[in-house]
Amino acid sequence: MLLDVKNLNVYYGAIHALQGISFHIEEGEIVSLIGANGAGKSTTLRTISGILRPRSGSVHFKGEDITTTPAEQIVRRGISHVPEGRKIFAPLTVRENLEMGAYTRDDPDEIQKSMDRVFVSFPRLKERLNQLGGTLSGGEQQMLATGRGMMSKPSLILLDEPSMGLSPILVEEIFNIIKEINSQGTSILLVEQNALMALSISNRAYVLETGRIVLEGNADDIKNNPQVKSAYLGI
Ligand code: ATP
Repeated sequence: MLLDVKNLNVYYGAIHALQGISFHIEEGEIVSLIGANGAGKSTTLRTISGILRPRSGSVHFKGEDITTTPAEQIVRRGISHVPEGRKIFAPLTVRENLEMGAYTRDDPDEIQKSMDRVFVSFPRLKERLNQLGGTLSGGEQQMLATGRGMMSKPSLILLDEPSMGLSPILVEEIFNIIKEINSQGTSILLVEQNALMALSISNRAYVLETGRIVLEGNADDIKNNPQVKSAYLGI
């Protein structure tokens, strides 16, 4: 098992955002978390990457307990978090943004190899290496955020709403790239409002409702579940 999340309880002050969440990811999988606004999807990612601390419960990665490991150490161990809303560094160039993603690494040749790998997935970034992040289009910023997430050479990427604000063609493109990153050996935990697209590239999925997992299964079964169809797929 790559990631094992057990019985997480997370609070924001008095708000009980995650109410005993348990799930796991096997090596090589794409797993989706789907659910309505405010269900706790981003909170789950923030807790795994060490930005938030659970009040109880545990997170194990590659067999080690990382529940209280500092966020920077979690990156070093192989988990990369691409947050919602892109959060790129607007005043830095594309190249500098990508280099920031490799801040835990020090071998320049290896870092360059990762950058070349990002350019295979996102050729558009290579064409814009010296452009400032803040002047990229929304879709390009999403590409940059995802590329930056690849620069730490993660074995697991946490992707929060990668399709948000993108045109339908770009949505398709970004999902194809996610599939491709996965096929190169990186496991993926995907949070998406676009549940149909997410399920179409996932092995398994968990449905979150107000801080609890209410349904889990392989992606096809979840896609065909009548409640999921009416609540999340608009079918
Ligand atoms: P969305 O799809 O809208 O991003 P989500 O499923 O990712 O939603 P979270 O962002 O994890 O949901 O939020 C879960 C709950 O925690 C919500 O009720 C939200 O209002 C609350 N919450 C999130 N961040 C904070 C915060 N910094 N302070 C207080 N409450 C918060």
